[in-house]
Amino acid sequence: MEEYSNINSKNRSLDSIMGFIVGDALGVPAEFKSRVQLKRYPVTDMVGYGTHNMPEGTWSDDTSMTLAAVDSINDKHSVDFDDIMIKFAEWFGQSKYTATGVFFDIGISTSSAIRRYLSGLPATKCGGNNVRDNGNGSLMRILPFVLYSYYQQLDRNSESTLIDNASSLTHAHEISKLGCRIYCDYIKAILDGQNKVEAFNNLKMIDYYKEYSNDSIKYYQRILDGSLINEPEEKIKSSGFVVDSLEASIWCVLNNNNYKDTVLKAVNLGEDTDTIGAITGSMAGLLYGYENIPKEWLAKIKSRTYAEELCNKFNEVIKEKSLNK
Ligand SMILES: [Mg+2]
Repeated sequence: MEEYSNINSKNRSLDSIMGFIVGDALGVPAEFKSRVQLKRYPVTDMVGYGTHNMPEGTWSDDTSMTLAAVDSINDKHSVDFDDIMIKFAEWFGQSKYTATGVFFDIGISTSSAIRRYLSGLPATKCGGNNVRDNGNGSLMRILPFVLYSYYQQLDRNSESTLIDNASSLTHAHEISKLGCRIYCDYIKAILDGQNKVEAFNNLKMIDYYKEYSNDSIKYYQRILDGSLINEPEEKIKSSGFVVDSLEASIWCVLNNNNYKDTVLKAVNLGEDTDTIGAITGSMAGLLYGYENIPKEWLAKIKSRTYAEELCNKFNEVIKEKSLNK
C-alpha cells in the first residue's frame, strides 16, 4: 500500500486532466514505436518531433477531444451531446482545442462519427457499432464525463446511460462502452480515496452482467478477476484496441509508485503510446496529484494556461448542485 494520498486535493479535475495531458504529450513523439525499439532507446523525458514532427509538449487528439467535452460542459452547465459533437467538429474542421493550432491525428471511427453527425444523424447514434470499431477512441476522451458523474452524484442507472451515450458519440459497440464503464468505476474508487490496489480489487465486486453481455465481459477478464496485477510485461499488449489500452494503463498504475515512473512505463510499452500515456496519466494524476507531475514537463506543455483555465472552471461547474441530471 502506498503511503502518499491525494484525497485532500481541492482540484481533482486539474490533477486528473493535467495528468492526462502530460501523459499524452509524452507519448506523441513515440507513437507507433515498438516496445523493442523503446527498450533500446527509451523515452525518459518530454521531447519534441519524432513520429508526428510536433514540438515538445504538444498534445494530440485524446486531449483535444477531452478539452472539447470540458469546454462544452463549462458552457452549458450540463452534458449536451449535440454541443459536444459540434465542438468535436470544430476541432476536426478548424483545429480548435489543438495545442499549437495544428490538427495532426484522428482515428477512423472518430472521423466517421463526426461526418455522420454533420450529415444529420442524432449525436448518440453516430458511433460505429461494428466489432472493428473498438479502438480506444471513446475511452481516451471519457474522463470529463466520469468526473461529472462523480461530482453530480449520479445514481448507477443515470451514470450508465451517461457513460454509454458519451462513448456512443464515436464508439457504440458494447466492448467500448464497457471499457469506459470499468475505467469510470476505477477512477471513482480512487476519487473516493481507495488506493490503486484496493480500487482495482474492488472492480471484482461490481456486477456488470446486468448491463453487458458475457461475450463483452470476457474481454476484460484479467481486470475483473484481478489477475492483471501479476502479469509480466510480455503479457501486456499496448495496442489501440480498447481492451489492450485499458489493461496496459491499469497495469502501469498498479506496478509503479509515482507519477513520473507510471507514465514513462506506459509510453515505453510502445505502439499507442500517447493514448496509453494519457489514460495512465489521468489515473496517476489523481493518485499523486498535480503537485507531483514533474514541473519541467508541465512547463513544456503548449497552451498549458488555456488547458488549466478550462480545468479550473470545470472543477467549479461540475460541483454545482443545481445542474440538470
Ligand atoms: Mg492521440
